[in-house]
Amino acid sequence: MTGLLPGDPADTVGGAATPRALCVLAPNPSPMTLDGTNTWLLAEPGSDLAVVVDPGPLDEGHLRRVIEIAEQRGQRVALTLLTHGHADHAEGAARFAELTGTEVRALDPVHRLGGAGLHGGQVIEVGGLELRVVPTPGHTSDSLTFHLPADGAILTGDTVLGRGTTMVAHPDGLLGDYLDSLRRLRSLAAEHGVHTVLPGHGPVLADALGGVEYYLAHRAGRLAQVETAVEAGCRTAEQVVARVYADVDRALWPAAELSVRAQLRYLEDHGLI
Ligand SMILES: [Zn+2]
Repeated sequence: MTGLLPGDPADTVGGAATPRALCVLAPNPSPMTLDGTNTWLLAEPGSDLAVVVDPGPLDEGHLRRVIEIAEQRGQRVALTLLTHGHADHAEGAARFAELTGTEVRALDPVHRLGGAGLHGGQVIEVGGLELRVVPTPGHTSDSLTFHLPADGAILTGDTVLGRGTTMVAHPDGLLGDYLDSLRRLRSLAAEHGVHTVLPGHGPVLADALGGVEYYLAHRAGRLAQVETAVEAGCRTAEQVVARVYADVDRALWPAAELSVRAQLRYLEDHGLI
């Protein structure tokens, strides 16, 4: 939640990020959402069909702006996808689906509209654009990453952010799952030509491998700190947060507490405390 990622983040949030991906920034900045939610408009060059990932909060102006930008580019939104069900990504999806006449596809049936779901390994094709569905549970149990092979990019939702680190939303999110998901993304970066992270919040990351490795190292470091805090006598999640997250903005402590609970559960499950 603090510190900048290594690598070379793109200069601004919003606008064209890769040949196929454009970011429309939602007007919901906060300590948790950084600059706001990144709504991604994706299309194959020359195609008149677009896919939108994470319409964002229920903000009529934002939703209409996404549609307008697609229209200015000669595109019609043909499908809406969700990286996960948190409100800052998904709350506007039903209204956006109404405005565009599209289906909403998500892992969690609660957030779907129009029947079809998503599952790991699935390949989605719209107007020549190809996206592969990569399960990345951990931030939440329903978190997905969308792999855009033609641009060497991954749309990571809240699994990897453009700045700082993310939370594991205990009890729905599990740290063991999250670490497995980061390793899955690391292998996409190391072995499958992924170099760019198009995150759910914050700027684009040009060094996907470096970003994911930073996340793995950060998680391991925090876990060791939590273990040490427990050994030093911290008994509650609140006490662990006050000790381990002393360097973090207090506005993020409630989120840190969820991550600490996830870490305590992980340490207990592994017989480490
Ligand atoms: Zn989230």
